[in-house]
Amino acid sequence: MPIRQLPDTMINQIAAGEVVERPASVVKELVENALDAGATRIEIATAGGGLGLIRVIDDGGGIAPDEMALAVGRHCTSKLDAGIDEIHTLGFRGEALPSIGSVARLSIRSRTANADSGSEIRVEGGVASPVKPAATNRGTTVEVRDLFFATPARLKFMKSPRAEAAAITDVVKRIAMAFPAVRFVLSGTDRSTLELAPAGGDNAMPKRIAQVLGDDFIDNALEIDACRDGVRLAGYISIPSYSRATAQQQYAFVNGRPIRDKLVAGAVRGAFADILPRDRHAVTALFFTLDPADVDVNVHPAKADVRFRDPGLVRGLIVGAIRQTLSASGIRASTSAASAMMDAFRTEGAPKSGPVAWRQPYAPPPAGGFAEAGQALFEAGPTLSAPVAEPEVDAALKEAPLGAARAQIHENYIVAQTADSLVIVDQHAAHERLVYEALKRGLESRPVAAQMLLIPEVIDMPEEDAERLAAHAELLARLGLGLERFGPGAVAVRETPAMLGDTDVVGLVRDLADEIADNDTAETLRERLNKVAATMACHGSVRSGRRLKPDEMNALLREMEATPGSGTCNHGRPTYIELKLGDIERLFGRR
Ligand code: ADP
Ligand code: MG
Repeated sequence: MPIRQLPDTMINQIAAGEVVERPASVVKELVENALDAGATRIEIATAGGGLGLIRVIDDGGGIAPDEMALAVGRHCTSKLDAGIDEIHTLGFRGEALPSIGSVARLSIRSRTANADSGSEIRVEGGVASPVKPAATNRGTTVEVRDLFFATPARLKFMKSPRAEAAAITDVVKRIAMAFPAVRFVLSGTDRSTLELAPAGGDNAMPKRIAQVLGDDFIDNALEIDACRDGVRLAGYISIPSYSRATAQQQYAFVNGRPIRDKLVAGAVRGAFADILPRDRHAVTALFFTLDPADVDVNVHPAKADVRFRDPGLVRGLIVGAIRQTLSASGIRASTSAASAMMDAFRTEGAPKSGPVAWRQPYAPPPAGGFAEAGQALFEAGPTLSAPVAEPEVDAALKEAPLGAARAQIHENYIVAQTADSLVIVDQHAAHERLVYEALKRGLESRPVAAQMLLIPEVIDMPEEDAERLAAHAELLARLGLGLERFGPGAVAVRETPAMLGDTDVVGLVRDLADEIADNDTAETLRERLNKVAATMACHGSVRSGRRLKPDEMNALLREMEATPGSGTCNHGRPTYIELKLGDIERLFGRR
């Protein structure tokens, strides 16, 4: 077959293959156009998951009658006046409308602000009809019917209307998060209506985020705001105990454009690495603002991929800002645990509880470091507790965030009383976190104290494991674990970390060998060290079932208050919950 120039319709259909992957991509392109036109209200209606109908109505600047034909022409755009390196709009490629027109039945009706009448154009399967006058409001209405009727092969790949409708909701929510001042209404026969009222003022961003992700997220989120070398990062991150099984709820925006980016996702994972287990994910909404010249958005026709000119800067900014925000937040557990508890107790009709955690970091009390004093405290003493200390001491204790210990129940839960609440601590989870934090401190500064075994413990294992452990002997020694090769297929352990107490050495060393084998990748040394510390912490924690004396319980509470991150255990679960007195009174119908 001879080489020939393809007809325009086919060129547009080929472009549509990338630009218009599914109904949600049409919605994205049309909403972007409305936003670029300065709309303050955008109404989207769909039917049949968007395959039957997509209609987007906006109150933006509109299109003049003599530009209507150009708007649906290939490579026609009103947006690239500053050049491809200075993109200030969401659109710039001039190919969405012609692509959509080549695979569906497209109609556009529009009127500009100062014109008395509007105009209309239709494109069906790539064939445009002449522009006609039309009666219409100011702004633009775009209707897309029978999507992919002209490309049946693509139509076959569509998921169920329900799945396509859900993908449209997701796209609208994402983009709406970046434009809080714009009113969005998404409705249709295939869905329940989503209406996002315009949010203004200083709190526009959190208000819109709460509309989209739920109040629950904002109640359990920390604000983040940082700037480095001209790149600003603002937004919200969930506290660690409010995590999810997938990274689906991680949103990122660059200059108002929703993006999906490996670099950002990787940096977020890295920042939470020592707080969340590998299978849990934070919820995040991160907004980057930077000079458009420092980011390339012309990477893919769908415009969701970006390249930062200085990826190291952006990664460092994300990791630094998140870590700093987490550690400044001090100890704070999820409110959802306490609200779930309230729900479990609540009788019909009782009011819903508000957030019950605190935000401020707590100044450490002058307690000794856990690494030195901690373990001794947990040597099982005679039974429980309850005797209330001297009145003055008790009053002082109650002022502390986690209060004065009152009892230990079921040999694992410490019940404490603060000035205005009841606190329940999961002692196993809390201790595991404290040991982990102490080990990490040990990694950063002085080595962790080791205790010598009377008789070295010789452990047989596969040769590769022995090899790997020996290769990391220096690091393990800093954590207080002294071991060396002991002939082929064995290591001898001479010292164990003192804070782990009388631990199962064989189990610990085998777990460490697995941990090192699993993670012998390109990870940074720091991340690897933290994982090793987490494995050790798990072995050293006060198991549930250990009875604690009042002093021991109070020491644990004080240590928690002094340790950033101790509101969450190493597995991302809360280490304590707090019920306000007011909530307890409500449970009993006293309020
Ligand atoms: P791009 O957005 O990349 O410029 P499109 O094919 O999406 O390309 O749109 C082509 C042009 O049509 C836009 O540049 C804009 O001038 C005009 N246009 C499209 N939609 C609207 C709208 N809702 N309101 C005003 N103008 C619009
Ligand atoms: Mg566009």
